[in-house]
Amino acid sequence: MPVTTATLLNWLRHAAALIHEQREYLTELDAAIGDADHGANLDRGFSAVVEALPVNPEADAGAVLKSAGMRLISTVGGASGPLYGTAFRRAGKLIEGYHALSSHDLLAVLRAFLEAITAMGKAEPGDKTMVDALSPAVAALEQALAAEIALDEALRRAADAAHAGALATVPLVAHRGRASYLGERSAGHQDPGATSAALIVRALADVV
Ligand code: ADP
Ligand code: MG
Repeated sequence: MPVTTATLLNWLRHAAALIHEQREYLTELDAAIGDADHGANLDRGFSAVVEALPVNPEADAGAVLKSAGMRLISTVGGASGPLYGTAFRRAGKLIEGYHALSSHDLLAVLRAFLEAITAMGKAEPGDKTMVDALSPAVAALEQALAAEIALDEALRRAADAAHAGALATVPLVAHRGRASYLGERSAGHQDPGATSAALIVRALADVV
């Protein structure tokens, strides 16, 4: 099945649904090493994204992601709003005017998503942030596509890598964001942003 604007619309709707389902869990994770607002922040933001989605599945794929990004920036707040918002905007910019995406376009979209977050937040892998889920996801997708694995299976591997990356944040000490104020005491807890990032990648794998 080709990836089209309709796929991206479904991605955003499904991501919103997964985040809504996991809202309490994300908030619990953020309560341990942050300020207990990550679930509420993202649920508010993604509901606002879904409300504003174009109904026309023929819309420009880039415009869909860019407007989702704008919506997240204006509604989420915290660290994650500007980071995810900029990520969707940057990814959307890359596919301006597109109505269908190849596997490699989708890889470029995810890579731009990750790069926007690292450019803005300056986190590196191992800093206990959303980058720890996104970076292995992009690597897994790239590797699978290079091995000519079909996109649906390649994205499943990316989602598994993101989930594993989120779980692997547990022993890490945070070096970015609010959790870094805890220093060594941030170890022993899963990072909320890495967890939500894994849900966003899972949502994409589910809809493709
Ligand atoms: P806040 O920390 O402002 O309350 P959220 O709770 O919504 O914001 O989001 C917290 C998540 O944001 C963290 O778990 C982490 O994954 C991510 N994060 C924070 N700072 C950065 C950064 N500089 N780079 C990448 N991700 C970050
Ligand atoms: Mg928070």
